[in-house]
Amino acid sequence: MAFDVDLFVIGAGSGGVRAARIAAGHGAKTIVAEESRIGGTCVIRGCVPKKLYVYASRFADEFADAAGFGWTVGETRFDWPSLVAAKEKEITRLSAAYRANLAASGAELIEQRASIVGPHRVRLASGREVSARHVLIATGSRPTLHPEIEGFEHAITSNEIFDLPVFPKRLMVVGGGYIAVEFASLMQRLGAQVTEVMRGTNVLRGFDEDMRAGVRDAMLRAGVAFRFGSLPKRIEKLRDGTRRVALSDGHTIEVDLVLAATGRHPYTEGLGLESVGVKLSSHAAILVDKELTSNVPWLHAVGDVTDHVNLTPVAIREGHALADRLFGAGARAIRYDTVASVVFGTPELGAVGMTESEATVRLEKFEVYEANFRPMKATLSGSGERAIMKLIVDGATQKVLGAHILAENAGEMIQLVALAMTMNATKDDFDATVAVHPTAAEELVTMRKPSRRYDGGEWMA
Ligand code: FAD
Repeated sequence: MAFDVDLFVIGAGSGGVRAARIAAGHGAKTIVAEESRIGGTCVIRGCVPKKLYVYASRFADEFADAAGFGWTVGETRFDWPSLVAAKEKEITRLSAAYRANLAASGAELIEQRASIVGPHRVRLASGREVSARHVLIATGSRPTLHPEIEGFEHAITSNEIFDLPVFPKRLMVVGGGYIAVEFASLMQRLGAQVTEVMRGTNVLRGFDEDMRAGVRDAMLRAGVAFRFGSLPKRIEKLRDGTRRVALSDGHTIEVDLVLAATGRHPYTEGLGLESVGVKLSSHAAILVDKELTSNVPWLHAVGDVTDHVNLTPVAIREGHALADRLFGAGARAIRYDTVASVVFGTPELGAVGMTESEATVRLEKFEVYEANFRPMKATLSGSGERAIMKLIVDGATQKVLGAHILAENAGEMIQLVALAMTMNATKDDFDATVAVHPTAAEELVTMRKPSRRYDGGEWMA
């Protein structure tokens, strides 16, 4: 059977753009459809604008720290509209670069919504239908909404926060995941009084317990207020724009803005997947095998829409691997166990591999190495900042199977620890590495004695 194209990609975000470019580079006739701005979540309303805003927020700490180093800083003032405009310029530049790279690869870009209408058939919003040998779903994810909360329409999500016309003086952040933590941390530094509300008893479920406590303490030091074990029941918008939020713990809080950051879900609605019998998980994620193909052999999925590891570099790697497998010389296997992730609070939290509590479930015996110290900069600045580092070492093989760093620039450090772990580094390799002095990272190679050992279900000193 002759098809119009070899590959039809739905979604020009991190994974879709990479797959389309690589497939076209292998000579496959490729179309990619996008219903919004080119670049997807990461470039337009995720990683990139978020990190720019994190940079903006950290000037607050620099100004405060400067006095300890002999500086007198004059009056400082932050102008939100200037930051929003500068961010817009940068993401417009990046989006144009994505567009140019797609064009250079030979893939055709169609700026319309697309959906599946039958086996190998995709329909564009214009009504045009295209037949494709392979279809790749790379439609990403969307913030989870909560219609069960009365007045939820008076809350916003991370999609809207980057372009607020007015900076909120009082902000409620709902949720305890990394996106909630990052916005609470950065908005507090930019001048908002932030209250973070979450169902759990601490931030960052799934991260190492000691790191979670360290992040919470750092946020408290920055002035963020927490309400654990509580969720909004009703959001009322008053005449002056104030949001009056009734919480499940019986308290009522008035703020200027409510940011709901309670998770994301795969964006599979309205894609016509049911028309060809694609299997979805209970969370509406497309179920794929390790080759990124669904139960329908011509339909593949990468990135957030599979709800596997929801990070940009993973979506990119998957898109690349799929295109290599379908149209190139075969794909390199993806190592998911050493994918690092970073929470861009201040300080940053970088993590790769097992947490201590995961290790108690997965390993027979292991050792925990820890460092908890006052970073050098804090000695003169007088800030209360702490740095915390932890290595999880397999007792049987001495391989480093987990690393957790809460410190300034932890994002930069954890990338290199992930490299060492991908090379199967042992604790001996860390010990054999000479330190770089004076740095915080040197602690990672100078942890001599374990803080505790776990052996056959028992903790030892
Ligand atoms: P996306 O990049 O979301 O792309 C999907 C694209 O498909 C979108 O452009 C969408 O408009 C389009 N689309 C959807 N349906 C259709 C359709 N039917 N027709 C046509 N087009 C369609 N990850 C990190 O690694 N580091 C970070 O620091 C980080 N920070 C984040 C901060 C925030 C606030 C958010 C929300 C996310 C962050 N992420 C981060 C996650 C990261 O953005 C995602 O993992 C990544 O974008 C997933 O890529 P994707 O290709 O799966 O989907």
